[in-house]
Amino acid sequence: MLKNQIKAVFFDLDDTLLDFNLCAREAIIDSCKDMGIPFSEKLYENFTRINPALWKMVETGVITRATLHKLRFLSILSETGIDADDQELERLLKVHIKKCAVRLPYAEEILKYLHGKYELYVTSNASQEQQIMRLEKAGLLPYLTDVFTSGRIGVEKPKREFFEGVFKLLPHLSPEQTIIVGDSLRADIVGGKSYGIKTCWLDRFGNDFPGVTPDYTITNLKELENLL
Ligand SMILES: [Mg+2]
Repeated sequence: MLKNQIKAVFFDLDDTLLDFNLCAREAIIDSCKDMGIPFSEKLYENFTRINPALWKMVETGVITRATLHKLRFLSILSETGIDADDQELERLLKVHIKKCAVRLPYAEEILKYLHGKYELYVTSNASQEQQIMRLEKAGLLPYLTDVFTSGRIGVEKPKREFFEGVFKLLPHLSPEQTIIVGDSLRADIVGGKSYGIKTCWLDRFGNDFPGVTPDYTITNLKELENLL
């Protein structure tokens, strides 16, 4: 039974415990205010389209995270028809997004339910400082044993080296004693499976990576109570 086998749960953060798009929307509004440029729904829509496309390229090794940060607002601003300093907007987004932490439904409840039964960790592709601040703001940090970001480990999910780095820091755990819960088939499920970690896909946006079969699929976090 899964309950007897599993000792630790790895949660992805954005779009698994926190609503990334709602966080980003707040941060973009604040950044535009700082720069004196008008916020528009078109700007936000272009962000929600272009940002995941660039992250896909990072996760498949086509570009680096540094390149994503260089290209992101250059292309978002140009597609929105706004003439502004894209690197300044990028800088401000990073400042404001640290303060944004909108929890997904059941995020706190499920951590509360699992806390004490399992070791709970976050595994996220982002900067360590940013994710710690957001987890703190969301009130989720007290439930976690530790937080592993690509910023801290030095490589992104789904790379094998990411999980290698995580397990190096958790010598008491073996991959088969762990399960990863995440919204991205590409980053979380492919990454977890290739390292021998059990996988649970939070199906929020549908299949973004055909040909991958997660061990478990849920459509909201509460369903984890049936598994763990
Ligand atoms: Mg995610």
